[in-house]
Order: sequence, then C-alpha cells, then structure tokens
Amino acid sequence: MIQNPDFRRNINNSYTLIMNNLNRFILISLLMGSMACKQEAPKMKAINPADLDTSISPAADFDNYANGGWKKRFPIPDEKSRFGSFDQLADAGEVQVKNLISEIATKKHDAGTVAQKIADFYNTGMDTTKIESEGITPVQPLLDQINAIQNKSDVMKVVADFQTKGISPMFSLTSDADQKNSEKMVVYLLQGGLGMPDRDYYMKDDDRSKEIQAAYQVFLQKMFVLSGTDEATAKNDASVAYNMEKRMASASMTKLEQRDPQKIYHKMNLEGIQKTAPEIDWTAHFQSVGLQNPGDFIVCQPAFIAELGKMVNEVSVDDWKIYLKWKVINSLAPYLQTAFVNENFEFFGKTLSGQKAQRPRWKRVQAATNNALSEAIGQMYVEKYFPAEAKKRMLELVGNLRVSLGERINQLAWMSDATKAKAQEKLAAITVKIGYPDKWRDYSDLQVSTGSYVSNVLQARNFDFKYMIGKVNKPVDRTEWMMPPQMVNAYYEPTRNEIVFPAAILQPPFFFIDGDDAVNYGAIGVVIGHEITHGFDDQGRQFDKVGNLVDWWTADDAKLFGERTKVLAKQFSNFTVLDTLKANGDLCLGENIADLGGLNVAYNALQHVLKGNEKPIDGFTPDQRFFLAYAHLWAQNIRDKEIVRRTKEDVHSLGRFRVLGPLRNLPAFYKAFDLKEGDYMFLKEADRAVIW
Ligand SMILES: [Zn+2]
Repeated sequence: MIQNPDFRRNINNSYTLIMNNLNRFILISLLMGSMACKQEAPKMKAINPADLDTSISPAADFDNYANGGWKKRFPIPDEKSRFGSFDQLADAGEVQVKNLISEIATKKHDAGTVAQKIADFYNTGMDTTKIESEGITPVQPLLDQINAIQNKSDVMKVVADFQTKGISPMFSLTSDADQKNSEKMVVYLLQGGLGMPDRDYYMKDDDRSKEIQAAYQVFLQKMFVLSGTDEATAKNDASVAYNMEKRMASASMTKLEQRDPQKIYHKMNLEGIQKTAPEIDWTAHFQSVGLQNPGDFIVCQPAFIAELGKMVNEVSVDDWKIYLKWKVINSLAPYLQTAFVNENFEFFGKTLSGQKAQRPRWKRVQAATNNALSEAIGQMYVEKYFPAEAKKRMLELVGNLRVSLGERINQLAWMSDATKAKAQEKLAAITVKIGYPDKWRDYSDLQVSTGSYVSNVLQARNFDFKYMIGKVNKPVDRTEWMMPPQMVNAYYEPTRNEIVFPAAILQPPFFFIDGDDAVNYGAIGVVIGHEITHGFDDQGRQFDKVGNLVDWWTADDAKLFGERTKVLAKQFSNFTVLDTLKANGDLCLGENIADLGGLNVAYNALQHVLKGNEKPIDGFTPDQRFFLAYAHLWAQNIRDKEIVRRTKEDVHSLGRFRVLGPLRNLPAFYKAFDLKEGDYMFLKEADRAVIW
C-alpha cells in the first residue's frame, strides 16, 4: 500500500507526479498511473463488434476474444510503453486540458491570479530557446550549496533543504493520517534515496537486471559529464553514487514486505529516532524542514533509517557531495536543456520501459503544469466538461453496489456472524466522493514567474511540501481529494474509509451515460465494486470503519480469509507474462481480490436491476455484455520491457490477466459463454477462488 513518493518522477508521467506532490502513499488506486495523448475521441459504442476477434473462442481466451480486434486496430504509439482503452480516454482528457491551458497561455493576466500562474508555468516550459541558452545555470544555486559543504552537519542541512524542494535525497518525509489514530495527521518517514524505481533493480542479479544496472551506471556517467565533470571524474562519480544507492537499496524493504501495514508502522518520537540513528541530529533536521515540533511520527522502515545513520558516519563528505549532485541532476533533468532531457529519456523511457520516442514537448510541459496546479486546472476542467447528470447516475450506482456487497457478505458461508456484523458496519460507513472536491485548494501562496522553468518547478514542489508539512499534528481534513478531477483513475483510502471517483473516469469505456445497465455495471459498476472491495482486501480489511489499523476479525475468519486469498495468489503466480517470467500473485493480491470482488458485487447488483430480463442487444445477452464491457476496460497492448518493469513494480496485474484471472472464478461467466471442462478459461470448482 505504501508508495514511496520519490519514485517515477523521471518517467515524465504527470499523474504519478500529482501523487508525489500530494505526498500520498496510503492509497489504493484502480491502476498505476500512466496517462496521456490522443487517438480516438471517447465517443464509443459500449460493445463495438470491431473490438472483438470472433475467430477466437471466448472459452479459449476471453481477452483476445473480447479485445483482439481492438488490439490490432490500436498499436502502441512510439511515445508509449503501453496503450490501453483507458489510455484512449486519458488521451482525450489530455486534449481537453490542452484546450483549457492553450487559451490561458496566450493571454495576459493580472499578477498573482491562477491564470497568470498557469500561463507562466506553461510558457516557461515551452520556451526552449531560453532553456537551451541557460544550460545548467538554473540548477547552479543548488550545486553551489553542495560545493559549500564542509562537514557532515552541512551534508544534513543540504539534505533537509533539498527535501523541502522535492529532491528527497536519503529518505522522504510526508504527512498523512496516523494509521492507528485516523483523526490526526502525522509525519511519515519513508525509505528512499534511490535513482531507480525500486530496491530490486539494485539487488537482483538476473540478466535483465544486470543489463539495467550497467545501463544505469553509464547513464549516471553521461549526466555527470553533461553537468560539466570531465570523463574520468564522471566515471568515478557515477560509481560512487551508484554504490551509495546500492547500499541504501540493500537496507530497503521489498515492495512485498511493505504490503503489510503492521510491518511499516513504527511510532517514534525524537528520542526514539535519535536512538535508531544517533549519527543524525534529528531535532535539527525536523527544524530545517519546517517542523519545530514533530510530535509522534511514523518511521516506516527503521532498519533503513539506522543504515542511513551508519552511512552518514562512514561515507566521506566528498562522496556525499557527489551523491547530492546526482540527486539534483536526476531530479531536475526533465526541465533542463535538451541534452539532459534526452539522456533522461534514454534511461527511464527507453531502457526501463521500452518507449521508442519521447512524448511531444507540449505534453510533458502540460503534465508538469497540471501537476503544479492540479486542482486549479481541475476546477476549470469540471466546469467545462463534467455533466451534473453523471454524478446523479453514479450515486445511484454506488448505492446499488453497496447494497449488493452487503448481501454477499450476509451470504458468505465461510465467515462468522460476528465478523459479518463488523464488515457490514464498515461497509455502511464508507464515504463516497464523486467528480470533484467541494472545497478547492488555494494556490495564493504559490509563486510562479517568467523566470526559469526549473525555478517554477522548484517553487511548486516547495509549495506542496509546505502544504504537506502544514498539516502535521492537525485533524485530518476529510474533504480533501488525493487525485484531481481530470485524472482517469479511482481510489480507496483505508484511513478515511472512502471511495473516490474523479470526473474524468466517468466516461466511456468506464461509464456510458446513455448505455444499458449491463455495460455500465460491467464497466464502472465493477470499478465501484473494486474500490469498495479494497476496504476488504488483504490490506484494507486490517482497517476498521473509522480507518484505524485495528484487527476486527475473529482469528478463525482471518485464517479462512488467508486460505481463500492464497488460492487467488497461486492462480496468478501461475500466469506466464513473458517468456519464462511469471506474474507475482502475492504482490498483486490486493488488486486481484478487488477485481474479483468488484465483478461479483457488480454482477449481483445487475441481476437486481435486470429482474430476469435477458433480452439481447446487438446479439449479446445482458450477462455477455456485462463481461465484454468489463474485459474492454483492460484492452491493451504493452511492450516487453514494460511487462518486465510492471511485473516488478506494479501492484496491479497486467491488463490481459485482469481479464483472464478473475473471470475464471465466476460461475456466471461460465454460464454466459458456455464454458466446458478442458477450456482454457475453465477451472475446476475446487480450484476457484471465492472471497467476497
Ligand atoms: Zn485497486
């Protein structure tokens, strides 16, 4: 459930950046961000015959049956590593936002207005002549800070200052609801300090990992050269920085370990952390980032913090200076001159994800602008594009889905009445947010100028950091949104026990305002069911109705739940995703429980609405349309490198397996497509998973 906010900044991905800036990490989303560009407007037929490949039997391969035609028609654009039906929607949204921003960017605005900020941010990013002529000067003040370092205490002062600028060397600081006292905001300290997206990139020694490690070191060296270091020194510096990161990686928890909320919850105060890592002056550090009194806070990975302390002692000041220089370059490369941007893309885009070409500049700059002023742009987006009617229809759907899960809980044969009663309480307490926040964020204190693009990026990050730190030790603001309305995604947040659906997801292929019930329950209905089920997946179930990490299960029920989820994890771990690479059923367990639960709950809700009506539309029965609409959400093409990357990093299964995996557990699916023993989609009843 925890996502280190440092990561993926360099993949030029607007929407994961939004999450970075909001410093959210206890959030379970529908999909891992990756949104962009245009292809087909979202005016689409709910079930389009051209999307199917009817030469394939639904019983043999439901993904290629339902999506084969789509996959042929929509190859991956060069600038992407994956392209799916929801990327089409995100692309259309990107064009809508482009229209909003373009109109603002070409006009003059009064200083201090949101329009001035959007215009100046975007225009400084698009001014390539200026950016090229400036070279590395926009980051020179940061490099000067590093050059002035004399001793270990100076190192930590610069680390603290960089953390306030979103550069985050060593570790990350964020604020969030205390998982064991969900009314109060506290500081979280998270492992971090790496340049690659996960500790496994440093620690694994298979061929693909070794290839990436070698490419990464060459990348470091090139970046040092670009920033003015001679070849020989750059080679040395690259090796120093890499080895420091590797040491941090070796002390880091794996993604899988971090899925256990108890394992990453260690409440401490100043005295406690001073004992954990005595080499760092923690009082001074908190003060430097603007926290005079941090109070009690949560250290997610104490062993990592302890190792950092040792590193502060053992690593020379000169080596720390090299490491910090690398952090600055790596963090700001996407906003510097072309040479930096291109090298950054070579590694993060091409080598890690298999992208063939960079996204056009306007998309990258728009993403950064959208990131810096997400809710300001979101407010305009909603006014122009979000129909009030969609919200009404959604509220009705959510209501029906909630009732449906309640019914399913009551009918569970494996759960005791005592746990059922608590589950019902939690279900009834879930807060629902649809479209956009009631209260918009205030951007008055954000400084944006016609100066350098880099300085605007740093100002925006610092604005976010202060906003985040400003919440510490205060009551949780339950009106706050963790995603902006223009984002195609949805989430469940366990400490708030809430499900949230931004406006942008309430369009095809998720939501068809004029569509029949079968397709809407199969698409957005399953998404709603998915998010609700997150409250009851292997992580979410550990939080109670008010969002506290409290065990409300009887020991027997917890055991039975574990046995059932193991069946599902095993099913997914048997999927081969590429050559000899298998899916990681343990890492994706929570998401797969949510997909399976979402399908069951939405299907059950649909039956209430259909009331026995089995009239086909366009040759498909309502049940068939339900499953086709579901499968279509995950129609996607993906590059091999991206398969490898996501299998390592993403807690969501790949699109193809989000179709194949859960459906094989649904009796209604067997009936709808007349599955027989021996079909690929057929599992023996004893091998099927039934959880929610
Ligand atoms: Zn999810």
